[in-house]
Amino acid sequence: MAGNGFYDVVIIGAGPGGLSAGIYSMRAAMNTVLLEKSFPGGQVVTSNEVENYLGFEHINGADLADRFYKHALSYDLEIIDSEVSVLEPGNEFHTVRIADKGIIRTHSVIMATGGSPRKLNIPGEEEYYGKGVSYCAVCDGFFFRDKTVVVVGGGDSAAEEALYLAKLARQVYIVHRRDELRASRILQQRIHAEKKIKILWSSVVTAINADEDGVSSVDLKDTGTGEQDVLKTDGVFIFIGFKPNSELAPAGIKLSAQGYVMTDEKCETRIPGIFAVGDLREKYARQIVSAAADGCTAALAAAHYVEKKKAGSR
Ligand code: NAP
Repeated sequence: MAGNGFYDVVIIGAGPGGLSAGIYSMRAAMNTVLLEKSFPGGQVVTSNEVENYLGFEHINGADLADRFYKHALSYDLEIIDSEVSVLEPGNEFHTVRIADKGIIRTHSVIMATGGSPRKLNIPGEEEYYGKGVSYCAVCDGFFFRDKTVVVVGGGDSAAEEALYLAKLARQVYIVHRRDELRASRILQQRIHAEKKIKILWSSVVTAINADEDGVSSVDLKDTGTGEQDVLKTDGVFIFIGFKPNSELAPAGIKLSAQGYVMTDEKCETRIPGIFAVGDLREKYARQIVSAAADGCTAALAAAHYVEKKKAGSR
């Protein structure tokens, strides 16, 4: 660990927001460390196609994440494979407790911990996870070649993943609780043009059933009439949004009703020197490009904060 365990900037999370913050922080000559508990790249890694990141008309999510990672490493950003257990704010410095590597003291912290897939919380979902229930089409779609799958949700993720699954599966059913999709127009057009995809409107999955081979069917309910039905399927892919990973946010930080971290335009929280970026932050659009932009904003603001602090004027 560089800097005797004392840093100017500690970044938690190596998604697009965290890695972008790392690049800007290194360019600002801040003594910086990035802590990541699993793999670099964040949710982008699980995306099959990325078509809306500036400069790339079309790129695989894992390839884009790899480029982000290598770009950050090219600035000699220190990246430590560690899980942060507690973030303790302080007046002089903030303390980051790492599960197995002690503590780090820092002038500033950029939280970039992203979000996790939301669960339906229905019978069978947890029980048959990995036996036909999945939250990642790129990871598990391969197992459903020429099979039938159900995709739950009506947003961009559900639409994109349904299109990906349609390349592999025999039949894809999108089960959506309303009568119109939330997904962007371009994705809606592609969904409607894909013959293998059928949308079951105004319907919810109320239970996932399985036999000895794994998932075998889902119980459906019509949200209008209350009518119930059973649909045979080999797999269930759930894309009903994300919940922010805001567990580390200290008590003084304000969260939205949904648990997103509230920040100002500098991505700074109510605690001076603690910033939040990317999908963790309360904001209008949650995109790769906006996460990267947050990383830039927070790192520049953190550098300014640290310089003022060192100069004794803050
Ligand atoms: P989302 O936009 O929040 O959509 C979640 C979908 O799941 C909605 O259609 C919602 O229905 C449905 N839903 C929520 N809770 C449900 C429940 N309990 N039962 C059944 N259905 C439920 O989430 P997302 O698609 O994961 O996208 C998250 C963010 O990432 C969005 O800002 C999105 O634009 C962005 N994203 C962008 C791209 C891209 O630009 N290519 C790709 C992926 C994600 P309602 O519509 O009725 O609320």
